[in-house]
Amino acid sequence: MNSSKAEAAASNLYWHHGALERASRAALKGQKPCVIWLTGLSASGKSTVANALEQRLHDMGRHTMLLDGDNVRHGLNRDLGFSEADRVENIRRVGEVARLMANAGLIVITAFISPYRSEREIVRNLMPAGEFVEVYVSTPLAICEQRDPKGIYRKARSGEIPNFTGISAPYEEPQAPEIMLDTTDKTVDEAAGIVVAFLKSYNVV
Ligand code: ADP
Repeated sequence: MNSSKAEAAASNLYWHHGALERASRAALKGQKPCVIWLTGLSASGKSTVANALEQRLHDMGRHTMLLDGDNVRHGLNRDLGFSEADRVENIRRVGEVARLMANAGLIVITAFISPYRSEREIVRNLMPAGEFVEVYVSTPLAICEQRDPKGIYRKARSGEIPNFTGISAPYEEPQAPEIMLDTTDKTVDEAAGIVVAFLKSYNVV
């Protein structure tokens, strides 16, 4: 559908109010819904920490869901590339999915580079106050490049991968994230523990 058709169709849509409040769904699980948004350079540790964090929350009896950049690009967002417009659309869709999952009562953890400040702000504004926790995985580029678990920095440096965040595309650092997490000198367990401690202080868990 082209954009004018999409706009015309959207103007004839009405929001259907369900009988059940989102709070009731979360109450059934005895938890507070929340989106924990990990952002940072490739290989900064987002996926690794997100997985450890999900395991910790699961062990605490919390109902969670993890949305991971690479996985989402295999399915929902398989039609998107890495141009600025596609990256923005990638995050817009992920934000909407995360919101739906939070409406279902879940604690949602996301691991996406999400390089643009404005798109992260859009997702933050989709969520009720206090239900968006931005975690800036601030591991420096030099360390990420040294780790290079998938060999993609090497390819990006040789020009094989265009629009690569940190090399040939920008990464806009969060200005006021709820949590800063440099994984250079922390174990994965310590990093996940810092997020759990924050969630406790924030009354999420
Ligand atoms: P991203 O999701 O940000 O691209 P990954 O989690 O896929 O990053 O990769 C991070 C790499 O760094 C992994 O190979 C991981 O084993 C390694 N690593 C080393 N120390 C840590 C740490 N303390 N926290 C997270 N990852 C670490």
